[in-house]
Amino acid sequence: MDREMVIYSMYLVPLALVLVIYVWRHYRRDQRHLAQLRDITAAGLAEPATLHPVIDTKRCLGAGTCVKACVEAGVIGLIRGKAYLIDPSRCIGHGLCKAACPHDAITLVFGSATRGVDIPEVQPTFETNVPGLYIAGELGGMGLIRNATEQGRQAIESIKKNKGRGKQLDVVIVGAGPAGLSATLGAMQSKLRHVTIEQDSLGGTVAHYPRGKIVMTQPAVLPLVGKMKIRETTKEKLLGIWHGIVKKLHVKIRFKERLEDITKNGNGFTVKTTRGSYETRNVLLAIGRRGTPRKLGVPGEETSKVVYSLTDPEQYRNQHVLVVGGGDAALEAATSIADERGTTVTLSYRSAGFSRAKQKNRQKVDDAQAAGRLRVLLSSNVKEITQDKVLLDQEGTAITLPNNAIIVCAGGVLPTPFLKKIGISVETKYGTA
Ligand SMILES: Cc1cc2nc3c(=O)[nH]c(=O)nc-3n(C[C@H](O)[C@H](O)[C@H](O)COP(=O)(O)OP(=O)(O)OC[C@H]3O[C@@H](n4cnc5c(N)ncnc54)[C@H](O)[C@@H]3O)c2cc1C
Repeated sequence: MDREMVIYSMYLVPLALVLVIYVWRHYRRDQRHLAQLRDITAAGLAEPATLHPVIDTKRCLGAGTCVKACVEAGVIGLIRGKAYLIDPSRCIGHGLCKAACPHDAITLVFGSATRGVDIPEVQPTFETNVPGLYIAGELGGMGLIRNATEQGRQAIESIKKNKGRGKQLDVVIVGAGPAGLSATLGAMQSKLRHVTIEQDSLGGTVAHYPRGKIVMTQPAVLPLVGKMKIRETTKEKLLGIWHGIVKKLHVKIRFKERLEDITKNGNGFTVKTTRGSYETRNVLLAIGRRGTPRKLGVPGEETSKVVYSLTDPEQYRNQHVLVVGGGDAALEAATSIADERGTTVTLSYRSAGFSRAKQKNRQKVDDAQAAGRLRVLLSSNVKEITQDKVLLDQEGTAITLPNNAIIVCAGGVLPTPFLKKIGISVETKYGTA
């Protein structure tokens, strides 16, 4: 009997131990995911801006295949055997979760019942309801580098059937993200008379990914280059490839030139930019959905030390930096720069609290402030920027700070009002495909 007990114990005790560890780890994971879900819901961030999954928890059996399939780790999490979107702001809408779900519990939708997402009307030729005005890439509702690349190329295939006459250009391409670059190469290949303008730099949204970000994509055809068989790379490598192509093929892109207006002119359009205007038969809008960064509108803002997103905290080492804004982007920028050696960081926000940001980021700000690594100026506004200083107003008190760099994270002016103004029909989707 004793011998049997010993044998049973030899097997049962380790088994029970494994079971306890298994249950405990799952419990901890559930609690972590639940806390994250509560945090983002409380911060009003539970609704992603673009295409995203809606998970039918009645159908979901908790297989976890969607969690594994999502390349942006931590966007979907399991809570008590059901999948939930626990970090929607990082969802980029590639839909791998839907394909991976064995129970057909996932639908991909734009917007939600309470938050509409504006999607312009675009035909399969990429022409909008305004003849001659085309849209390619994420602006049309389909995110991802491969889709944008393919759409830029295909849009030019449609545009080349409707060339300009006389001095008119065949097409003005707006934007040099993956869609605009692919379209520009397509226009070169088809010998179209074209101009490409870009308000910022090559690469679009990709150029603003965090440093070292792993980029997951799928093979796509770039005109004049051929099939790009990239599946997994880094932001830097992908940008390096694109810069190499631009250099080797002498691709002309007018950087730092922003589209301001498009007006109908006879059988074509007049495109007004910050640097001039163009007469063209067609316009291809490949401007993505991030819009144009919202500016402060203060004297000195045009200096090169003012930027509108953070790419590499390290570049601010040993500098006096001001971060402006109160959302997650601002808080993340301020705290990550505050971690750099020899840096003094001030975070200025016009409201009295950071109610729009995630609890996790608010905590990081509190910690950095308590450790003396970050100064926070709530209810403050930037008044003027000079070469080595920045002047602020905090509830009537003037504050002057030494300054080498300013990062403005004040959101973007989204393209929808502009699309409507130029006559493009836009449908607001409330949680529909
Ligand atoms: C954090 C993050 C991670 C991502 N990770 C991945 C990933 O791993 N894999 C993947 O496939 N996709 C990923 N995506 C999505 C992908 O980056 C986008 O879907 C893709 O860049 C869209 O390409 P686009 O050319 O349509 O637009 P964009 O890349 O946004 O380019 C638009 C360009 O137009 C310019 N522009 C805008 N307005 C004007 C104007 N008025 N005048 C002149 N120029 C203008 C902008 O400056 C910009 O350069 C990610 C997105 C984010 C935000």
